[in-house]
Amino acid sequence: MDFKFSEEQEKFRQGVRDFLEEELRQGLWEPSCDAWIMGHDPEFTKRVAEKGWIGLTWPKEHGGQGRSFVDRLILTEEMLRYGAPAACHWFADRQIGGAIVHYGTDEQKKELLPLILRGEAYVGLGMSEPDAGSDLASLKTRATEDGDYFIIDGQKTWTSGGSHMNWIYLVARTDPDAPKHRGISEFFFETSLPGVTVQHIVDITGGVHFNEVFFDSVRVPKKCLIGEKNRGFYQVLNQLDYERSGMERLMANYPLFEALIQYTKETKRNGKPLSDEPIIRSKLAQLKIELEIGRLHMYRVAAVMDEGRAPNWESSMSKAYGTAFEQRLASSAIEILGLYGQLSPGSKWVPMRGMAYHSYLSSKGYSLQAGSSEVLKNILALRKLELPTQ
Ligand SMILES: Cc1cc2nc3c(=O)[nH]c(=O)nc-3n(C[C@H](O)[C@H](O)[C@H](O)COP(=O)(O)OP(=O)(O)OC[C@H]3O[C@@H](n4cnc5c(N)ncnc54)[C@H](O)[C@@H]3O)c2cc1C
Repeated sequence: MDFKFSEEQEKFRQGVRDFLEEELRQGLWEPSCDAWIMGHDPEFTKRVAEKGWIGLTWPKEHGGQGRSFVDRLILTEEMLRYGAPAACHWFADRQIGGAIVHYGTDEQKKELLPLILRGEAYVGLGMSEPDAGSDLASLKTRATEDGDYFIIDGQKTWTSGGSHMNWIYLVARTDPDAPKHRGISEFFFETSLPGVTVQHIVDITGGVHFNEVFFDSVRVPKKCLIGEKNRGFYQVLNQLDYERSGMERLMANYPLFEALIQYTKETKRNGKPLSDEPIIRSKLAQLKIELEIGRLHMYRVAAVMDEGRAPNWESSMSKAYGTAFEQRLASSAIEILGLYGQLSPGSKWVPMRGMAYHSYLSSKGYSLQAGSSEVLKNILALRKLELPTQ
């Protein structure tokens, strides 16, 4: 077992860092927590696309670079370390492009992949519904065949993609008479189609990164069906493994961690820097231990993907671990800041641009999004520990 990165990988990481450092030097954006899902910046996405950093792992014949998932993880780790505003292309790059490479027709690959590679598809993930979250197979949104079209009726909720979303990856029921897992299909289409209404949801931090999306007799051409009709649920299961595999479940609040270390060095309480306090030193050291363990989990998942296997229990384990770490990081930051931790980003006294406040409030949702920790532990119990099904 070799835990080292290759020379080429180290060079690639440095290249990503140089690019991001230069962006910061030019003052193009500020590092922020959760920027992978909340930092919608089309211009940044365009610059990333120009570097060829979207579709890194796709085959070369589809415009990708045929690089490894470990290479891609290096890229995303650095994007998260710097808190770069990558939300416009994140979902398309992470899972939708890959799904089209895997399940799409030649025509879809020719039409849709270049759009993603250019960083022009700001994709929302239309899975959850008001009565279908963990149990996605009970979704009710219907897609009914009508000549060359499917007519879509229903509602999605918590559709990340913010106010920039212009495409949606939708899961809908195409056979209401089949057993619930077997009558579902996937679609990919523009949200500008008549009958689609996107309503932004303001979250607990005051940010807008997810939406409610309503479909009222939306006529979607049949060419928008991705993969096999009625096999969508099984396709989604595979995509979810990829959704759970990324470094964002561990590093999305790295800018807070770094700022917190700096803060404890610079801030004095009772005439002494906070970093002199044994309990604070111990807390920060503990977080560092956990962060490094988390990185190993994440790189293991990428290595599994490079072996050509779908990371199933591995990505469940790393996601459950990563979000628990992020919750502990947010709680530790609030404890260390004391009453200052309760100040919102708008306050002139708020430390660290309000990152602790943001992360603490957001962290409640981390163990829900992309599969709740309870559900992920069930997967682990079943697939790795081989406990009997309930
Ligand atoms: C920040 C954020 C972003 C999101 N983005 C998207 C998005 O882009 N697209 C999208 O489609 N959805 C998105 N979601 C929704 C997310 O996928 C759902 O919240 C998640 O699947 C859980 O579903 P639910 O909220 O309906 O909760 P429920 O499924 O109702 O679960 C409620 C509670 O019951 C527990 N539970 C449920 N089933 C089991 C079980 N079998 N065993 C043990 N415990 C169980 C859960 O762990 C949870 O604690 C997002 C959510 C968040 C918080």
